[in-house]
Amino acid sequence: MNEEQEKYTVCDQCGAHILEKCAYEEDDFTLCGDCVVKQTNKEVKQAETIVNELRQEVSEQQKKEAQKQYRHRTALIFVICLLIFIAVQAFVYYSKPEPVASQKIDPQQNIYVTQSLILLAIHNYQKDHPQPPKTLKQLVPDYLPSVFARSFSQFSYHLEADLTPVLTLLETNKKEETTEGKAQ
Ligand SMILES: [Zn+2]
Repeated sequence: MNEEQEKYTVCDQCGAHILEKCAYEEDDFTLCGDCVVKQTNKEVKQAETIVNELRQEVSEQQKKEAQKQYRHRTALIFVICLLIFIAVQAFVYYSKPEPVASQKIDPQQNIYVTQSLILLAIHNYQKDHPQPPKTLKQLVPDYLPSVFARSFSQFSYHLEADLTPVLTLLETNKKEETTEGKAQ
């Protein structure tokens, strides 16, 4: 009993007298139970701090990644919207009905219809241009389907001094006109 009681040692950390069998040896360092607990708590806290820092770093990285993805997604949505817009514009542009193209008119046969359509084309041309066209060819193909170009020889077209367009049927056709006029 006495021998055991004599086996005391001192804690290097806090200087407490402790039984040798209760002491903890660590790298030639003697620690009492309390100090081991304190030391362990300290290490646990340090570990917790490190873990928290790591966690924060990871969450910040994730946040940055999410922001990056959000920016990419926003850019992608913008590009998609732009493409849709362009597609719609293109569709509207190309689906614009061509003037009179859907009606089947033989310009040679229906010379008066042709005359009306040329006048209408001149009218439309003037909406987009400061001056009326100098020649009928300028109406093709934006204002008049190219099939009508064959009939241009049946008309005389010129601009007056005040730029008023004058379209007249040539003599051969005019005879027809008068005959028809009398018949009616
Ligand atoms: Zn101690």
